[in-house]
Amino acid sequence: MINNDGQSDLIRLKDLAPEALTAAVAGLGEPSYRARQIIKWVYQKRVDSFDEMTTMSKVLRGKLSQKFAINKMARREMLVAKKEDAVKFAFELIGSSEWVECVLLYDGKRRTACLSSQLGCALGCVFCATGKMGFIRNLSQEEILGQLIGINDYLALRKDKPVTNIVFMGMGEALSNFERLRTSLEIIMHEDAFNIGGRRITISTAGVVPSIERLIAENLNVGLAISLNAVSDRQRSELMPVNKTYPIATLVAAAKKYYQKTGRRVTFEYICIAGRTDTIEAAGELERLLGGFPCKINLIPLNQCGDCPLEKSSERQLLMFADELHCRGFSATIRKSRGEDISGACGQLAGGVRQGESL
Ligand code: SF4
Repeated sequence: MINNDGQSDLIRLKDLAPEALTAAVAGLGEPSYRARQIIKWVYQKRVDSFDEMTTMSKVLRGKLSQKFAINKMARREMLVAKKEDAVKFAFELIGSSEWVECVLLYDGKRRTACLSSQLGCALGCVFCATGKMGFIRNLSQEEILGQLIGINDYLALRKDKPVTNIVFMGMGEALSNFERLRTSLEIIMHEDAFNIGGRRITISTAGVVPSIERLIAENLNVGLAISLNAVSDRQRSELMPVNKTYPIATLVAAAKKYYQKTGRRVTFEYICIAGRTDTIEAAGELERLLGGFPCKINLIPLNQCGDCPLEKSSERQLLMFADELHCRGFSATIRKSRGEDISGACGQLAGGVRQGESL
């Protein structure tokens, strides 16, 4: 069914949260278990037509197809890292010439999907290729979940298990697209859909404090990673303009509240930049800020992107900095950078073709 604007009148099924889907199915006179059946077909079996839903009568399938569209995003491009520990995907957005990027990371038995929540990003962190694109728009629930479906299709073709862990660390600030993030999480955690528990989901934020408060209030039971990256407001505001609105002290206070209310240790992501954030003085400042707070510090070697003038710390300096933090009582790990050669590492997703490169 096409309306006067050339758009389909059908409801995009993957834009519906479980409750909304149940209500829509009830509107067709069907019991609530039908919604669970549909969720299973769409997210676990990843079908893209009602005809394939053979546990339902032909009449019902006909009724459903008159009301809903099951859109599936086509894979536009895929790049496998040389070490085969990361795969970057670009999926085409439905009814648009744009696409979204996401990454699959292999780590032992884990299959982690690093998902995007926005096209571009408004926060403009200087070390981030996505930030350089500016903000284009929020992704819909269909577009967030479509990335996960596409990655699971890829894994299934290789007779591998589906995604086990999720991190929202792709394109965009996930907490700035809160409503769609929240409903996507409902589906991700749903036992008839992806069935991935909050223990295996991490939301990363550049530090949008009111949204951290909302995350606490909504009690979503997910892990929180805060991109800290600097120890003084002057330094952090240079790297991450969001710090001018939510300075370090406010951010650390929100992190402490998150821990108190959820009992979950917050991870501080900390990009090591040569001579700036990897010094003994910086370690001392970190102790002043976070000493005694049960948290994790994840040291990330800066990934070079575009014309970013910053230099990454040497391997030696990174190890020395990690040692310094251990001596000061922190749990600090150096994150293995995966996918750097496919621009799939932290801060490197930027819709290559949109920027005039090929993927
Ligand atoms: S690091 Fe995250 S918040 Fe900062 S510009 Fe990039 S995508 Fe946005």
